[in-house]
Amino acid sequence: MAQAGPEASPSRWAVWAAAPRALWGRALNVALPPLCLACRELVASDGLCASCWSKLSLIAPPYCERLGIPFAYDPGPGVLSMEAIADPPAYRRARAAARYDDVARTLVHALKYGDRLDLAPSMGRWMARAGRELLSGADALVPVPLHWRRLWMRRFNQSAQLARIISQETGVPVATEALKRIKATAQQVGLSQSERAANVQGAFRVPAAAKAEVAGRRLVLVDDVLTSGATADACARALLRAGAGNVDVVVFARVVDRAQAPI
Ligand SMILES: [Zn+2]
Repeated sequence: MAQAGPEASPSRWAVWAAAPRALWGRALNVALPPLCLACRELVASDGLCASCWSKLSLIAPPYCERLGIPFAYDPGPGVLSMEAIADPPAYRRARAAARYDDVARTLVHALKYGDRLDLAPSMGRWMARAGRELLSGADALVPVPLHWRRLWMRRFNQSAQLARIISQETGVPVATEALKRIKATAQQVGLSQSERAANVQGAFRVPAAAKAEVAGRRLVLVDDVLTSGATADACARALLRAGAGNVDVVVFARVVDRAQAPI
């Protein structure tokens, strides 16, 4: 009777409850053919169907060496975009796997709001490829953190999920505790560029315990989407203030033409 105390029974129950679900999940994986990540059409292997692939605009050179914004033509090596010259961010370089168009938005929303954690491996692999140059010299990956209340409601941080995959692909460790969101900010959706910057001002901080992990290190910030760059900029400022050697940014998708951004 002593073993069946109040601590023992719930965990034992959890094990018994989880077992059939795990078996059922495995059975489903075997039974169901893979579906397109975006449109749920049947596909031959994991990933996107041919039609969705053709709609996802992966970003490739030529692009701005600093911000990764694609150029319509090749202006030659080292040329920067107007944005990088007019309004240089605190982070050093940014790279995105894709333009934030309809297909990219479908993937981002499904991962973030639809609990489609199974999308993270494909998205993370595309990010690892797009950010290869930045990641090759990096000491650690820093996912853009959620405020604890949002994390509690959503149960996972999509940026941390993507960082985990990039880490598996590149061997660069994830510094999960390096950055904290200390202010519960409003969603950036629907805000102007200056409102976005004000919204995230002072929202991030490197905790005292993580200072050693940050000081002098080459860090790569990981997020799902880069819109105005205000969040990445606020994160980079906090990391640099804590002594980071430099901060680069890798995102899954970035807004290229803000006027046409499907937000
Ligand atoms: Zn599709």
